[in-house]
Amino acid sequence: MHELGIAEELLRAILPQAERHGAKRITRVSLRIGVLRAVVADNLSFLFEHVARGTIAEGALLAIEEEPVVVACPACGARSGAQMVVLECPACGAEGIGLSGGDNLQIVDFDIDD
Ligand SMILES: [Zn+2]
Repeated sequence: MHELGIAEELLRAILPQAERHGAKRITRVSLRIGVLRAVVADNLSFLFEHVARGTIAEGALLAIEEEPVVVACPACGARSGAQMVVLECPACGAEGIGLSGGDNLQIVDFDIDD
């Protein structure tokens, strides 16, 4: 259940920013989470609701967007998205591909009421 640590980390990151904007309430938090983080979105939403109780983020909706692993193939030039680490190009099957991304956890945006 590493989602609990992520939920606490999120809250710690957004509360000071929202307070700086004079927010009375945080209504929505948009996130991009890499598929390699193996975060279960439902668990994260549930745990965030729990840790946010009693703060201005109580009841905020988490909008979670998955970031795929980007596969760059030197053989055919394709750039593909994958849901896990792969060893072959999904387009042509060549090996020796480059992988990037898929491990980020980024707060894209949040909506506040002030
Ligand atoms: Zn290829």
